[in-house]
Amino acid sequence: MLVDRMTSDFSLGSVEVALSPLQRFEEFLQSRGKRMTKPQKLLIEHVFSRHDHFDADTLMEQLPPKGAAGRIGRATVYRTLNKFVEAGLLRSFTLDGRAVYEHDYGYPQHDHLHCTQCQRLFEFQSDQLMTLRDAVARENRFRVTGHRFIISGICENCQKSRRRTHRKLDMI
Ligand SMILES: [Zn+2]
Ligand SMILES: [Zn+2]
Repeated sequence: MLVDRMTSDFSLGSVEVALSPLQRFEEFLQSRGKRMTKPQKLLIEHVFSRHDHFDADTLMEQLPPKGAAGRIGRATVYRTLNKFVEAGLLRSFTLDGRAVYEHDYGYPQHDHLHCTQCQRLFEFQSDQLMTLRDAVARENRFRVTGHRFIISGICENCQKSRRRTHRKLDMI
């Protein structure tokens, strides 16, 4: 299954979870003797309003300039995102040297294709890939805790528009 994650919502479906992301994070904080701050609550609500891939800068741009909790500073955003990862709500991976985040809690395991031209990320799920991963781990006596697999290349759309420009140039 191949899904363009930037334009469609939750096409890979969702995984049944007992708690909402907010409750889950509250539990995580409680186990550390902490309480949720207003910026944390605002960020969790914003981030979990739709499934997307984003980095800290995109998130900063989307936030209201003055939310109910006042302006949320860049440092707070970075710190909070890392806490969400630690709590198992988000997962992060590195793409061209920047940290990209997406939902982990309540969202199925998947991998990505990355178009180096339009920068879009496409999601896919492959049982064969998981079988191979587990076999490689077994051979090397590894206990799997996760993996990152990103296929780089040029997406179908970008290939088409490339051909169109080439044809135009041929006519000149
Ligand atoms: Zn593309
Ligand atoms: Zn994804």
